[in-house]
Amino acid sequence: MIGAWLAMAPTLWAGYTWGSQLFAFVNRPRVDADRPVVALTFDDGPDPVHTPRVLDILAREGVRASFFLIGRRVAAAPEVARRIAADGHDLGNHTWSHRSLWAMGPPETRDQIARGNEAIATAAGRAPRFFRPPWGMTNLAMFGALRRLGTPCVFWTVQPERRRPAEPDRQVARAARRVAPGAIIDLHDADGVPGAGARLVQALPRLIELLRRRGYALAPLRDLL
Ligand SMILES: [Zn+2]
Repeated sequence: MIGAWLAMAPTLWAGYTWGSQLFAFVNRPRVDADRPVVALTFDDGPDPVHTPRVLDILAREGVRASFFLIGRRVAAAPEVARRIAADGHDLGNHTWSHRSLWAMGPPETRDQIARGNEAIATAAGRAPRFFRPPWGMTNLAMFGALRRLGTPCVFWTVQPERRRPAEPDRQVARAARRVAPGAIIDLHDADGVPGAGARLVQALPRLIELLRRRGYALAPLRDLL
């Protein structure tokens, strides 16, 4: 009997992870790809040093964007989360402590999502509107938790810096190659990859300039999805 369960385990695991990934991708919120509009999204903050500088740049440029915040970092810098909301940006939940959902069973998944949501709502005075899983990795237990909170799972289409550091010039060049109408650009205003926040502060003004030169309007996810 146990042997039969063990034999099934890899199949169950594949469904729980890869299966959920496919389901999440197929059911992702749709963007209108006919309008020349793109969304800037920022993950892994708030960072007490770099996020305020990013907010200054966005305010100066008159850009509204979307921030996927880590609950634990929100609890450490609640005033930054409050400012993100006050400046008119979208709030997104990026879990409580940024661990891969592939390494979590259902109870821990629900806990990571609920605690992240709660930390953001408490600090910012407004519940998050969207969810993005760390590294885009989903599991089947995620969907029920997100449905209860009313926060759809949002991925990205352009990632200027991936799992290794990319210099600001390289980030702008990558975005230039891949951007298209309806693009969701994934940026990092805090460290996951070391130094990400500092590189973003350098890259962001050039990135905004490039997108505008190409004729794109910049909108928060609430206007794009
Ligand atoms: Zn992340």
